[in-house]
Amino acid sequence: MKPILPGGTIGILGGGQLGRMLAMEGRRMGYRVGVLDPVENCPAAQVADFSVQSNLANAQCVLDFVSQVDVVTVETELVPWKLLAKIEKVRPSRPSSFVLGLVQDRLVQRQFLQDHHFPQTPFASIKDRVALTQAAEHVEFPAILKTRRSGYDGKGQTRVDSEKHLNEAWRELDEVPSVLEAIVPFKIELSVVLGRSLHGNIEIYTLAENVHRQNILHTTRVPAQVTDTVRSRAEKLAVSLAEALNYCGIMAVELFLLEDDALLINEVAPRPHNSGHFTLGACVTSQFEQHLRAICGLPLGVSSLMHPVTMVNLLGDLWQEGPPRWDSLLAHPQVRLHLYGKSQAGPGRKMGHFLLFEEDSAHALSQVETILRELTHKNHRSDCHRKDEIFPLARLDSHTALSSTESH
Ligand code: AMP
Repeated sequence: MKPILPGGTIGILGGGQLGRMLAMEGRRMGYRVGVLDPVENCPAAQVADFSVQSNLANAQCVLDFVSQVDVVTVETELVPWKLLAKIEKVRPSRPSSFVLGLVQDRLVQRQFLQDHHFPQTPFASIKDRVALTQAAEHVEFPAILKTRRSGYDGKGQTRVDSEKHLNEAWRELDEVPSVLEAIVPFKIELSVVLGRSLHGNIEIYTLAENVHRQNILHTTRVPAQVTDTVRSRAEKLAVSLAEALNYCGIMAVELFLLEDDALLINEVAPRPHNSGHFTLGACVTSQFEQHLRAICGLPLGVSSLMHPVTMVNLLGDLWQEGPPRWDSLLAHPQVRLHLYGKSQAGPGRKMGHFLLFEEDSAHALSQVETILRELTHKNHRSDCHRKDEIFPLARLDSHTALSSTESH
């Protein structure tokens, strides 16, 4: 295939923050960028060359959009793989419908990992009441019950403390096909972000160490504070997985590191990943540029980290008492702010992030908490803004949750 060069057109399905950062990097490089999303003025549409407001269920509209671009990519693995299979008949789609079909169903993903002997959490498939009664043979409690489809950031998941709570937990998830996983007593969560080109070359980013709060990523510090042996084993796992999937583009592998230094795969994301946001600003080639290079059939850029960094997510909860105090955040000269252009904040909604460039990562993590406190600290400014003036704090409704298209 001939590479798609600057001047060519990239089509992104999904217009959240991942689509936005992809579009920004694409346009910087001289590509035209089109975005398809059901929400008017979504984060990516604000920065794209053109956008189409449509639901993914409107296949004709999606195919019309696709006919205007040279290559198609997705910002969420929730784009139905069958739709992508139709798209592949007319345009290259990266990731492929095969990869999407595999990762958008937790059970299929886990079976693939099992078939290829990748280490992972013990799990059991829950498809009916019989499976529910047999689950305890495979999984110890406490455990987590997760819906096979459509879950992210802790959505579609519920903790199950013991076998006797299993029925109730499944009812809570509307008795949809699910996967029961043992809760892993990890000491650290890690992620490997890597880019793989169309020709199979790989660039691995510096290993990231993640902290989640209420199942949503809170901070990522890079480099992760682990031994060289752990780092190299984590990288090898991610490379083997990318090769097993014959993957093209940016991919993230989320890992649990246990007390005995064993590594288990939690999840695979076939797209730029929240824990890779540090690469935009801290690395020679961002994960977004790398993804575009790969899907356009170009050589990869180097992934080297230029400076130790901590990434911090800014969730909608910070808007509860009015707009955060950007003046205090930006008073820190080593901070780089990124806001996604979302007009409504909601609990747990990812509104932006910042990078903190600080050599000493332990100090960085404590500084982060101070910066976050300062962001909502009230002083003379609080009477300048009504609570709902700029960022009305919306409940998570159909607009803000965006089920199928909100990026993760
Ligand atoms: P997920 O959306 O499945 O990646 O889950 C989000 C976060 O919940 C993970 O990053 C972990 O912090 C936590 N989590 C999910 N599954 C497990 C598990 N089996 N054991 C321990 N923690 C988990």
